[in-house]
Amino acid sequence: MPFFDLPPWMISLLLAPFGLVLGSFGNVLIHRLPQEDPADRNVITRASHCPGCKAQIKPWHNVPLFGWLWLRGRCAACGWRIPARYPLVELLTGLLFAASPWVLPFGTLIWFKGLLCGFALIVLFFTDFTEMMLPDVLQIPLMGIGLLLTLPQLLWPEALVKVWTGPVDILQALAFHNGLQPAPAYHGFEPTVTWLNSLLGLAVGYGVPALMNLLYKAIRKTDGLGMGDFKMLAWLGAFWGWAPMLGILFLGAGLGAAVGVPLMLMRRSGGQTMLPFGCFLALATPIVVFFGRALWLGYLGWLG
Ligand SMILES: [Zn+2]
Repeated sequence: MPFFDLPPWMISLLLAPFGLVLGSFGNVLIHRLPQEDPADRNVITRASHCPGCKAQIKPWHNVPLFGWLWLRGRCAACGWRIPARYPLVELLTGLLFAASPWVLPFGTLIWFKGLLCGFALIVLFFTDFTEMMLPDVLQIPLMGIGLLLTLPQLLWPEALVKVWTGPVDILQALAFHNGLQPAPAYHGFEPTVTWLNSLLGLAVGYGVPALMNLLYKAIRKTDGLGMGDFKMLAWLGAFWGWAPMLGILFLGAGLGAAVGVPLMLMRRSGGQTMLPFGCFLALATPIVVFFGRALWLGYLGWLG
């Protein structure tokens, strides 16, 4: 049952501006959360200002996407070059919102879950890419939210029974009543994201890489993965369950190797190149969530 009886393209047009505005806030998070000084980390009450000259940004220059285009990518006060990341993050978040009703049923809990996950991944991709860090202040609440999204299982257990009437019903009829939707790629075939599955995802997401890290440390005598990567896997596990989380870990590691190994060979740096692993996890997540099952079956077929 759709929340509003509108064609998806119209919902897309209505959602896109919200995405652009949220993307603008995403830029604030990306710039301020990795700051050393706690006062610089304030993302709520501090007005938008130019990182170059600290001048306050005029409201009409702060309009997502268009402000940057109008200013031709430079601060109006000091001419500081505004990185292309700013319009890019706004555009990506706008596209995320516009695409959401096409891939997830609009107005349902899994739609909300998908949007929240997507936005978090955009922000974390760029904090990791620019500063090599994944802020706890985002990741720890995300772990809790992942678990909370399974709460309807306890509140409306009767909806859980109906969830099993068929693969289509899971996503379309009862989606709002439960946060138990499996990743769309798994719907109807795989276990739903119950509180237990979510909790396992959280525990395994933190535990498996922690073990791998211990092994790596023992062999190489250095830290392999950063702690932030573990926390990212933990909240992704809480959101999508333990199996997709492992898929994200392996695909992310594969993507990281595909980029990292040629880089290492080119630089001949002897394996000391630090790669932002969170970026690869962020790229792997939508692939696993939407195509994980098809990839897994393809892989099993390829094995014979
Ligand atoms: Zn400036």
